[in-house]
Amino acid sequence: MRKAASYLCADCGAAFGAQWAKTDHARTCPVAQSAELRRVQAALEAKQHSLRAEVDTCYRYAARAFAAHHERRADEARRFLTWLTEDFERLVASLTALSDEVTAARRTQFPRMETTQREVGTLIEQARDLQALTATLSQLLAGSLS
Ligand SMILES: [Zn+2]
Repeated sequence: MRKAASYLCADCGAAFGAQWAKTDHARTCPVAQSAELRRVQAALEAKQHSLRAEVDTCYRYAARAFAAHHERRADEARRFLTWLTEDFERLVASLTALSDEVTAARRTQFPRMETTQREVGTLIEQARDLQALTATLSQLLAGSLS
């Protein structure tokens, strides 16, 4: 009786007669590799989306601080500026890390990362604008104390 191949690749379903052959195949299985690429891409996209939300929060804090300053509510203005400053520091750290990851992924992976890299570029630009906003607000609110 002929024994059927009993070692199946979980990713592409190819059958192998021995464990070593399956293990050997796993290193080069195109389906497994593209699944890994999809997983990496999805993880980076998820991070990019959460950073987009953090950028939005920083913009909201900047607007609230400015509006409060404009309406001469100094305590409120300072509170929003404090939140903005704290969140912005975290944002820059996460954004720097994500940018490095995306660059590395693009180098070793595939052009589908292009969109994510472009989005991250936009977030970096917005972070620079936020830095200018934060600095200007700090000067404004420091001025309103004197
Ligand atoms: Zn396979």
